[in-house]
Amino acid sequence: MITRQDCEVRDQEDPLFELRHQFDLPPGINYLDGNSLGVLPRATAARVQEVIAREWGMDLIKSWNTAGWIDLPRKVGNKIARLVGAGPDELVTADSTSVNLYKVLHAAAQISKADAPGRRVIVSERSNFPTDLYIAESVARQHGFTLKLVDTVDEIPAALNAELAILMLTEVNYRTGYRHDMKALTAASHAAGALVIWDLAHSAGALPVDLKGADADFAVGCGYKYLNGGPGAPAFVWSHPRHAERFWQPLSGWMGHAAPFQFTPDYRPAAGITRYQCGTPAILALSALECGVDTLLAAEPMGGMDALRKKSVALTEAFIALAEARCGEQGVRLSSPRDANQRGSQVCLSLAAPLHEAGYAVVKALIARGVIGDYRAGDPQRLDEFPHILRFGFTPLYTRFVDVWDAIEHLHQVLQTEEWREPRFNQQDAVT
Ligand SMILES: *Cc1c(COP(=O)(O)O)cnc(C)c1O
Repeated sequence: MITRQDCEVRDQEDPLFELRHQFDLPPGINYLDGNSLGVLPRATAARVQEVIAREWGMDLIKSWNTAGWIDLPRKVGNKIARLVGAGPDELVTADSTSVNLYKVLHAAAQISKADAPGRRVIVSERSNFPTDLYIAESVARQHGFTLKLVDTVDEIPAALNAELAILMLTEVNYRTGYRHDMKALTAASHAAGALVIWDLAHSAGALPVDLKGADADFAVGCGYKYLNGGPGAPAFVWSHPRHAERFWQPLSGWMGHAAPFQFTPDYRPAAGITRYQCGTPAILALSALECGVDTLLAAEPMGGMDALRKKSVALTEAFIALAEARCGEQGVRLSSPRDANQRGSQVCLSLAAPLHEAGYAVVKALIARGVIGDYRAGDPQRLDEFPHILRFGFTPLYTRFVDVWDAIEHLHQVLQTEEWREPRFNQQDAVT
């Protein structure tokens, strides 16, 4: 079994270890929740302070030109593009993931109606992140489409049929950590005559993504998870250039206009992805997001996302091995794919009966010990397939191998002492 000393050696030998110094991590905290909210980069507070004090405070409205505010959504977009295999000027930051999904679903529906009028079905996974499904439901209603949800990954191939207009998936499932084969599913959907939208919320900054290589149609992603952009950071949106100018996106705001400062009464969409902007960008938030994205680009001289992925796989493999060796007899089960190729940068554990309802309290007991993961409720009717899960995200920029070891040691102790039974760990918080 891996010892804590083995983990110390692996940290010492880790060529990416120095990247951790880019962050202000609170003392005593073992943070395994960067898949929900990335940590604060050291550069962010000073940069945002500079934007406030100098660019806004002193230079005021001139800063739209002099500080390049007007170009910031494209500038930060071009940085994110390097992480996800998009070309220059193909990706912009804007709005939230939910809003961007609305834009690309609507555009894809219009394209599908024009090119393949008989197709009226959007397919996604029942276990996709709910906001993605809620937005798809709305777009389906507006366009007279049907949203069909598959229960398991095995059902996807049969759903790629003559009815299918759009396949919409999150590359890495937020619950299970299952990673879809983007390239194969995109190719199969195209062969079936359909378009594909990828949500990269748990991919961008977590693992290498090659949107162009996979020949994807549209993508959206989140700024506050692995990109470390801060709570509510702007999201991003990408369209393959072959689609970008075919239709208006539905939220035809002035920042997506070809000439916003001519103030004409009629809408004329900007060229390319710029039209996917809507209103005025949130400059303070975008400045913070840029600092977060820079923490990932700092890995480029060390092998970039490929090197980060290698470390992420090593971290998750170590976590799984230790969880099963140390806590297997206590009822801890792996609820993420065992094959690293089918897994994102997170690992979910569940608890076997009679502890299958204890997950929430166990996570809260871990948090009280400084080990921050999160809990996602399962389906009470189908706990075998959808158990309550303890979710742990591994962010190779700053997670150490000793953090993996310590987290499992705490989990072992929480179960051994049954401290999770304490009433304070069994009260439901608003955000879990
Ligand atoms: C986190 C996440 C979102 C978040 O959407 P917001 O609009 O930022 O609230 C959407 N989709 C997926 C798959 C996510 O993981």
